[in-house]
Amino acid sequence: MEIKSAEFVMSNSDVGKCPKEPIPEYAFIGRSNVGKSSLINMLTQRKGLAKTSGRPGKTQLINHFKINNNWFLVDLPGYGYARVSKSMKNTFQKFITQYFEKRQQLVSAFVLIDIRHEPQKIDLEFMQWMGEHQIPFSIIFTKADKLKPGAIQRHVKEYESKLLEDAWEEMPNYFITSSSNFTGRDQLLKYIEDINNS
Ligand code: GDP
Repeated sequence: MEIKSAEFVMSNSDVGKCPKEPIPEYAFIGRSNVGKSSLINMLTQRKGLAKTSGRPGKTQLINHFKINNNWFLVDLPGYGYARVSKSMKNTFQKFITQYFEKRQQLVSAFVLIDIRHEPQKIDLEFMQWMGEHQIPFSIIFTKADKLKPGAIQRHVKEYESKLLEDAWEEMPNYFITSSSNFTGRDQLLKYIEDINNS
């Protein structure tokens, strides 16, 4: 898919106030600092579209972007940022869960995971929650440029075994990406395009 246009539509913390237009929507979520803003900017080839920030946890809203005038890309707040207060974490959680439970236009989510680390409890728990609520998602492994191919495969396998232990029947669909060298961009955009055209 060629990205012809990418525009910011709105930010809010209330799923009821999200855009009403019935076009397909894809949501990006992951731990703070996972590389979500960089990935969104890499996919859309718009440098400042999503705000990459030195201070993790800064993007605490549901951010809608309209791509090619026919689908929404949604940038959700990063989870698991240790320095936000507990009450703030609860508020986050509430509107994120409400978003996933109520957003009719949502076709699929992308759960971003930093490929460099061994499986993290918070990511496994989040995927478990998505599974229990039957919310379709793919995994996007980020920062693949930081590892050699062998290590990438090993880390993916580690995630697979953990997920199978957690009662998943198979490894969810996944992508290996790097915002530094554009790895995975074509595959991801093709995946979205194929669903939009189906
Ligand atoms: P966010 O908090 O998830 O939006 O993460 P950012 O996009 O702001 O990225 C967090 C940090 O990781 C920044 O220092 C980025 O430069 C770095 N980063 C993001 N993506 C990549 C990547 O693909 N490769 C490398 N090497 N660094 C990345």
